[in-house]
Amino acid sequence: MGMTTNRQRIGLATALAYFVFSSLTILSNHQGGLASLAPATPFALALLIARPRRDWTAILIGGTIGSMAATSLFGFGPLAAAPMAIAKVGEVGLAAWLFRKLRGRRGYFGSLDRIGRFVASVGIVAPALGATVAATVAALKFGLPFDRQWRIWFVGHSLSMITLTPVLSLILSGAIERRWRDASRQLRIEATVLISATAAVAVAVFFQNERPLLFLPALPVMLTTFRLGLPGAAASAIVLAVIGSYATLHGMGPTSFIGGDLQGRMEFLQFYLACTVLTTFPVAADLSRRQALYRRLRESEARYRLLADHSTDIVLGIDRGGRITYLSPSIEQIVGRNPAQLHGRRALEMVHPVDRDLVLVSHRDALTDVQGTQIVEYRARVTNGALRWFESHTRAVQDDDGRVTGTVSMIRDVSHRKTLEAELSRAASTDPLTGLANRRVFDAALAQRIEIAAQGGIAGCVAVFDIDHFKAVNDRHGHDAGDHVLQAFARIARGVMRDGDVVARLGGEEFGILFPGTGIEQAHCLSERLRTTLAATKLRHGVAIVELTVSAGIAPIDGMGGAAAVLRAADTALYGAKAEGRDRLRLAA
Ligand code: GH3
Ligand code: MG
Ligand code: MG
Repeated sequence: MGMTTNRQRIGLATALAYFVFSSLTILSNHQGGLASLAPATPFALALLIARPRRDWTAILIGGTIGSMAATSLFGFGPLAAAPMAIAKVGEVGLAAWLFRKLRGRRGYFGSLDRIGRFVASVGIVAPALGATVAATVAALKFGLPFDRQWRIWFVGHSLSMITLTPVLSLILSGAIERRWRDASRQLRIEATVLISATAAVAVAVFFQNERPLLFLPALPVMLTTFRLGLPGAAASAIVLAVIGSYATLHGMGPTSFIGGDLQGRMEFLQFYLACTVLTTFPVAADLSRRQALYRRLRESEARYRLLADHSTDIVLGIDRGGRITYLSPSIEQIVGRNPAQLHGRRALEMVHPVDRDLVLVSHRDALTDVQGTQIVEYRARVTNGALRWFESHTRAVQDDDGRVTGTVSMIRDVSHRKTLEAELSRAASTDPLTGLANRRVFDAALAQRIEIAAQGGIAGCVAVFDIDHFKAVNDRHGHDAGDHVLQAFARIARGVMRDGDVVARLGGEEFGILFPGTGIEQAHCLSERLRTTLAATKLRHGVAIVELTVSAGIAPIDGMGGAAAVLRAADTALYGAKAEGRDRLRLAA
């Protein structure tokens, strides 16, 4: 037994369905000539749209067979079967091909432009081709008037394709079934009620000949479309088409007011249905796009809220004028007030006054440099009154038209980092044993004074101190005792010297003191006070008493020879003091 492939089954089903639809159309056409009602055409078109491209050949062949059988048995006869199949299947094939070309990602009702192209290809180009072939056959074989036959075909096929294709393709693609399966009980009840209401209104409108109430179905149809989306629009269209066609065929409904023959009234009904579909489907398509957009927006909003709410960083939104429009909840732990209390306040109020200018400049820069990120550090008072450091990264916020409406900032408490930085820079400039400034700081301070001297200002003096017989302290009492002595020198020197004087450890047991803007006598006087204080100090180290004397050389800072020359002069003086017997000062010559 041969296996029946899926494609063969589709072809066979198409042939059967096409045959049934076509035959019904031909048989219900009581006026001879071409029929205006053509459900087979939109059915085949919807099938092509719903199925992948690889199934098209099977569908088109099935349609051809079905069409030829129907024409042979009930229509123009076997001789006309082939050309009529070309007219019908060719029309459908062309419509499907054009449709696929224009559909794109957003569906064929995604925009006004797409609706226009849908109508142009499915409603004009394809039926025009079909009408031309079919009317030619009718004219040549049966002597029927070409123009009238052309018009009947064109109007019938155009309107039925516009009306039924969107509906049938929704059904055939399984979209409606899926929606029904996924729907909640409540939604199913709502759908049933809405569609029943549409049906009830349609019956009331079409099964009477008193009043032309064609406008009335618009109410339940639009309501159903708004509530149920595309499936709602499709269901409404089917309900209207079935009830309207039945009533019209039986001489009832608003179409009876226009008079004329059944052909004309059916065309009018189809025109009415096409207008309904062209109203509801774009609305439904746009609605579902908006819903998807809204859902995405809500998801992303929830995501960002999650981030903002659980971040220890502060997210701050402010308008152009600097007023707070958004603050994340983390602010409460930092300044002790919740976002609602701070909303509308000036953000700058929270910044320490000394840093406000800086922050204001960065806000303005963010507003003008739309692409850039402004980073600024500033201090602000927190809940317990302490000043803390914050770093904010600020960017402009633009509206849809590209206008800058304000800024958004991510703010982080960087106090810890600031403390660390301060410690690092202190470590880089201080001597770890004594806590005094190191050689680097001393040299920098001296260089600065040299510059002042070079400009003719009063620069000051430098003293170089060296502990006497320090080696002996180490040897006699140990290295620890030596360190102890160095620390004692530092402590006492700082006590004796004034605030502006720079006391530095230059290396080993050698110290430098810079007296800015100080004359030689004053520098000598201060150095002498240090020397005598040290000499009078008895340092205890364990049981031992360590004596501590120093010698020093003092030199004025002048702009002539630079720092090296000043230090050399002081060193030479120190050397002299040592040579003279230590525990004394000497001025540079
Ligand atoms: P003078 O009176 O001629 O200055 O004699 P002095 O012994 O002080 O001379 P010298 O410069 O030869 O000795 C310096 C000693 O200081 C040598 C070194 O071991 C010691 N020293 C240098 N740095 C340190 C330190 O950080 N701690 C201790 N405990 N000793 C140090
Ligand atoms: Mg020494
Ligand atoms: Mg020394």
